[in-house]
Amino acid sequence: MIKITKFGGSSLADKNQFQKVKTIIHSDEDRRFVVVSAAGRRDKNDNKITDLLYLCHAHTMYHVSCDPVFSIIEERFLSIKEELGLQYPIEEELAAIKKQLHEGIPLDDLASRGEYLTARLMAEYLGFSFVDAKDIIRFSYDGSIDFDTTKKNCEAFMKKHENFVIPGFYGSYPDGSIHVLSRGGSDITGSILARVMNADMYENWTDVSGILMADPRIVHHPKRIDKITYSELRELSYMGANVLHEDAIFPVKEKNIPINILNTNHPEASGTIIVDTDDDPSSNKQIITGIAGKKDFSVIAIYKNHMSNEIGIIRRALEVFEKYQISIEHIPSGIDSFSVVVNSSDIQNNKYDIVSDIKKACGCDAVKIIDNIALIATVGRHMSYRPGISGRLFQVLGENEINIRMIAQGSEEINIIVGVENKDFEKTIAVIYENFVV
Ligand code: ASP
Repeated sequence: MIKITKFGGSSLADKNQFQKVKTIIHSDEDRRFVVVSAAGRRDKNDNKITDLLYLCHAHTMYHVSCDPVFSIIEERFLSIKEELGLQYPIEEELAAIKKQLHEGIPLDDLASRGEYLTARLMAEYLGFSFVDAKDIIRFSYDGSIDFDTTKKNCEAFMKKHENFVIPGFYGSYPDGSIHVLSRGGSDITGSILARVMNADMYENWTDVSGILMADPRIVHHPKRIDKITYSELRELSYMGANVLHEDAIFPVKEKNIPINILNTNHPEASGTIIVDTDDDPSSNKQIITGIAGKKDFSVIAIYKNHMSNEIGIIRRALEVFEKYQISIEHIPSGIDSFSVVVNSSDIQNNKYDIVSDIKKACGCDAVKIIDNIALIATVGRHMSYRPGISGRLFQVLGENEINIRMIAQGSEEINIIVGVENKDFEKTIAVIYENFVV
């Protein structure tokens, strides 16, 4: 069985976390391919190595010495090395990076060093081979992942090595230069490897025991989601539930490789399993799988009598948003009106121009902007094709005096999105949870 085992930054923050990782790896002989993030925070007030690297770069851009920040990075790696009694000459690597920093190192090269050095130490500590992600993970020049080359690189490496530790977060372009993924991208590295190696399982080890049904800052002790489908997770992560990078799903989805979210600090907990479809009759039949949401949206409502008979009006309105490069979240529509929901920050600087352009383009009677809207997604595969769920949802919100400003539902019926005022955000999530989760 092939397992890709990825550890997040908090699982690698210090000597103790390294020890936990070793115990986890050695307790299952299928865990031979390990992906690591850069060492992360040891506690709430600590720094992530990657943040510090970006900070160093920012200092040099403004011609301010980055030495004090760099020394925090050096101390962290040196203490892990020393406390675990490792031999890897990390001092030399650090000195070389520091020198390059003074000479002007490309940002992506610098940002990737957190993962690189963490992987170097972990490889020695586990007694596994080290493989540099720049020799395996290949990007095309447009930034997309070149799966074919990545697969070939990976197969060639696996012929010679039976296990490895690879840094997450980066790879290389065809000319060998380093390219980093977006923040949190080591999750994507794990997913890419799972796909090209045809893994049976992608284990993603983090510091929570799986994905919770709601944000614990809003709902007291929410239940854990035992099983979730890729599509449900996509909806929840898009709406702010951030356990796994939202782009980590695509590479494994096509191959139907399950992802298991596990807790390095509680390896015995079963976590959350993410699958393509769930036809297991024994699995939990909660109507909803999870609730997530985000604040600060604006609804731009466009009114025109007899609009429904007019062809092209929505297109003309949307072209205005395209002109201002604004991405659209939802387009709920009525008979004589439709609305466009966007992130408030995206329209902040051009609000009045947008309204006047829409009026001109659509010849409409009125355009109104409603700000301070929060969107809340109630997601669940068991909701689809089951009558009455949305009715019940709207009813309980009404009973709790929450005014719904907008409603949208995805075509697969696995999510119901309501727009409420920002001030009702927390209450809405709590009310939905109390009424739907048993
Ligand atoms: N170290 C990178 C970050 O902090 C990537 C990752 O941890 O996945 O964003």
